[in-house]
Amino acid sequence: MSTPKQASWIVKKIFDAREWLRQNNPTETLNNFCKKGKFCIKKVYTASRPKYQKCNWKRLTIASKAIPRHQFILWLALHRRLATVERLQKWGIVVSKDCVLCRSNAKETFDHLLFDCAYSRTMWSKILRWAEVKHQIGSWDEEISWIAKVAVNRSKGEILAFLFTAVVYHVWNERNNRRFQGKEITCSKRIKEIIQMLHIRGQSVENWKKELEQLNSYPS
Ligand SMILES: [Zn+2]
Repeated sequence: MSTPKQASWIVKKIFDAREWLRQNNPTETLNNFCKKGKFCIKKVYTASRPKYQKCNWKRLTIASKAIPRHQFILWLALHRRLATVERLQKWGIVVSKDCVLCRSNAKETFDHLLFDCAYSRTMWSKILRWAEVKHQIGSWDEEISWIAKVAVNRSKGEILAFLFTAVVYHVWNERNNRRFQGKEITCSKRIKEIIQMLHIRGQSVENWKKELEQLNSYPS
C-alpha cells in the first residue's frame, strides 16, 4: 500500500518508515543494538551520538578542585588561547618579542613560557620537589599528558592538578605584571603563595587532609 496523499505528516512518516524497513531489512543492524537477545536503547543512543576525539585533559577542568580564576587561565592555555606575543603579532599588535620572565633574549612564544622558560620551569620543578614527586619536566604537551594521567588519582593527583593549574596561572600573571605594569614578584614568593592557597583550599577537601599534613612546610 502506497503512502496516502491526504494523510497527516506523522502517518506519512510511519508509511515511509515501513517502506524503508521493507527495502533495507535492518534485522542485522538491529541485532547490534541487542544485549542478551533484548533490544537495548542505551546502545542505540551511544551509536547515534557524534564521535569526538577523546580529550586527555578533561579531568584537569571538569573534576578540578583548583581556584576558578586559575582554572580559567588553564582552560585558555589548554586551547593555546593565551595572548602571547606571537598571537598579538597575528592580530597586528606590535610589542617587544623578548621574554620578560627569564630575560635570556628568548622570544616569547607559548611553548617558551610553558615550560621552556627558566622562570616557569623553576617554579614548577620546585613545587614538584616540595610535593615529593620525581618527574622530569618536558614540553607543554608532555606536561599535559603527564598531569592528566596523574590527576586520576584522588587526593595526591588532585593536589598536583591544583598545583599545576596554579603554576600556569602564576606564570601568566607574572608575565602580564611585568609586561604591562612594570611590577615584579620573585618566583619563590609566588611559590609560597601557591602553597598557602593549597592549604587554605585543602581545609574544605576531606581527602586531601592526610597528604597535606605531610606537606606542612614551605619549599626550600
Ligand atoms: Zn623566558
